[in-house]
Amino acid sequence: MTISFKDRVAIVTGAGGGLGRAYALDLAARGAKVVVNDLGGSRDGTGTSDAAAQVVEEIKAAGGEAMANGGSVTEYEQMVEMVAKTKEAWGGVHVLINNAGILRDKSFAKMEPADFDLVVKVHLLGSANCTKAVWETMREQNYGRILMTASSTGLYGNFGQANYGAAKLGLAGLTKTLYLEGAKNNIKVNTLAPVAGTRMTEDIFPPEAFAQFKPENVVPAAVYLVSEDAPTNMIIGAGAGAFHAAYVTMTQGAALPEGERTAEGVARIFDKITDRTGETVPQSGSEQAMTIMRLLQG
Ligand code: NAD
Repeated sequence: MTISFKDRVAIVTGAGGGLGRAYALDLAARGAKVVVNDLGGSRDGTGTSDAAAQVVEEIKAAGGEAMANGGSVTEYEQMVEMVAKTKEAWGGVHVLINNAGILRDKSFAKMEPADFDLVVKVHLLGSANCTKAVWETMREQNYGRILMTASSTGLYGNFGQANYGAAKLGLAGLTKTLYLEGAKNNIKVNTLAPVAGTRMTEDIFPPEAFAQFKPENVVPAAVYLVSEDAPTNMIIGAGAGAFHAAYVTMTQGAALPEGERTAEGVARIFDKITDRTGETVPQSGSEQAMTIMRLLQG
């Protein structure tokens, strides 16, 4: 099976370097026309550069089609303009990879509200901005593939990244509602949690691991998740050529009879509430209420 993006138009945000660049190069090599978005700032989100234009040059040199966009994902109007220009040039938008990101790591005790605000703004609101900007087009086309970029920090936590983790789990939450709203228009929405040696992680990985975790090893997961036969509502982890899935599960739970619904009652049955035997993976929020109803009916 060959996965082709011929006649597809893709937007990759934050594609001026790191993972986004690697996604853009592979999509273009597979025939996609690619918008390389990046404002080209530093790791903490300050400054600008022509990083996007450089990746466009690389794609063109390899025989692909691409255009640069220097807009910031934090500015909804700039994302609307990017989509309008894309449609004007290439007639549609079939793929969106929300990848742009910054870091402002500090323990929560030392974190300024402004650091929390900016990180959530770039990752979570930035992805919502770009997705909103392409959403109507994808609905009209009855075709859309959207990838959100989460992180192990969002899914599982990491010391010093409260702002980043909150934004990243928010993206998994955004996926979980958009996959429902997009389903009838063939819009598939997934979440990727990558691990890669980029400037974002250069001070974390030892040199050998940095090479093993090269961005190209995450590309297969990202590209599959925005392909024609992509699944939807998945959370996939990828790094160094290894892949796994993450799920938000619900235990069978337990109910307290009327008259025993107290904190002491919860303490008494807490082991039963948290027992993972027979846990499920709800496909929408309403399954929580349905499970409760079933429990109450005995
Ligand atoms: P990176 O710093 O190389 O790439 C991020 C890119 O986003 C940069 O090129 C930057 O200029 C761009 N960007 C930042 N703010 C922007 C804005 N407002 N508008 C447009 N572009 C903007 O780092 P990376 O490791 O390639 O990260 C890519 C994505 O993967 C990020 O969302 C990151 O949080 C996520 N991620 C990376 C890892 C990892 O191990 N590298 C792990 C988990 C998640």
